[in-house]
Amino acid sequence: MDVVVIGAGQAGLSAAYFLRRANLDHVVLDADAGPGGAWRHRWPTLRMATVHGIHDLPGMPFAEPDPTAPANEVLPAYFADFERRNGIEVRRPVRVHAVRDHGGLLRVETDRGVWEAEALVNATGTWTRPFWPRYPGQELFAGRQLHSSQYRGPAEFAGQHVVVVGGGTSAVQQLLEIDRHADRTTWATRREPEFFDEPFTPELGRAVVAKVEDRVRRGLPPRSVVGVTGLNLTPAVRDALATGVLARRPVFDRITEDGVVWPDGTHERVDAILWATGFRAALDHLAPLRLRGPGGGIRLDGTKVVADPRVHLVGYGPSASTVGATRAGRAAAKEIKASLSRRQAA
Ligand code: FAD
Repeated sequence: MDVVVIGAGQAGLSAAYFLRRANLDHVVLDADAGPGGAWRHRWPTLRMATVHGIHDLPGMPFAEPDPTAPANEVLPAYFADFERRNGIEVRRPVRVHAVRDHGGLLRVETDRGVWEAEALVNATGTWTRPFWPRYPGQELFAGRQLHSSQYRGPAEFAGQHVVVVGGGTSAVQQLLEIDRHADRTTWATRREPEFFDEPFTPELGRAVVAKVEDRVRRGLPPRSVVGVTGLNLTPAVRDALATGVLARRPVFDRITEDGVVWPDGTHERVDAILWATGFRAALDHLAPLRLRGPGGGIRLDGTKVVADPRVHLVGYGPSASTVGATRAGRAAAKEIKASLSRRQAA
């Protein structure tokens, strides 16, 4: 096998498409039961009108969707169609546990057997690694704690006081939904939120990508796109700021059995805490390759890991968006083709 691709989200499918065009022998492995990558699991109330915008998979334009349709149905259908039309056979469900060096080849160990390859495209996204911060008293809380990845819609919070923690798009979108059903919502973020109020032009997009790229080139953990741009000041967000629905407080100091203690010492009763605190890259299976540097991140040159150029990370850092994922898949396939040709020639 020339290449193993792990993950069949936007990044992995794009890589598979270009590997096929480059005539490289490859296999695509995915842990999930069906197509769609992380989109299969987005909360049912996330509609196409509220996603930022989806970039095409290669060679197959994404048709203008019905804005009221749920993203967790539209995108999996689009991915399934893409796989079918391009003859991409994803082996699923196959979960990769570890990738090791084995006599110069990469040995990919899974719950369905072992593959060996010259090169690896890792496209495992972040969805399976939700980040939960730790706060004192968290284990005492008798109410409900959930991560934004577990949110299924606002109805279950009727009549409750819900604290939403986090300064990203998911925090804001989920809080605005919940606020229409709950008795009260409170928004807590570590830093004062920043907003941007300009069209998301290609120039702005490139500037954002350049900032995240610079971090991974220096071996630092990547930041999310919102971490770099700030929150998009949509009409709904503007309205919520004006009416006080979105009134940020600094995060509480500790959690008690029935509530939280704010930095000014006041205790408040809370029914649920929603941790919209983001994700980390799902890379545990790559630990045996020791790719992380002293900065805690993985240094990349393009998509190629500097510490082990056989390994490419796509959908990671600067390519963690649908546009970035598609481009990174193409770049990884091109680079692997060139490096395998160089090796064969040597
Ligand atoms: P994923 O779609 O997460 O795919 C990863 C795949 O890897 C999954 O199928 C998973 O099963 C598989 N996998 C993981 N671990 C293993 C393993 N160990 N073994 C085998 N398989 C494994 N971007 C935009 O451009 N526009 C948007 O509107 C937008 N909205 C977003 C909304 C939310 C709520 C979030 C969280 C993100 C959003 N993004 C958006 C970001 C965008 O979704 C991602 O950057 C992109 O879709 C990720 O694609 P991916 O292929 O890297 O990963």
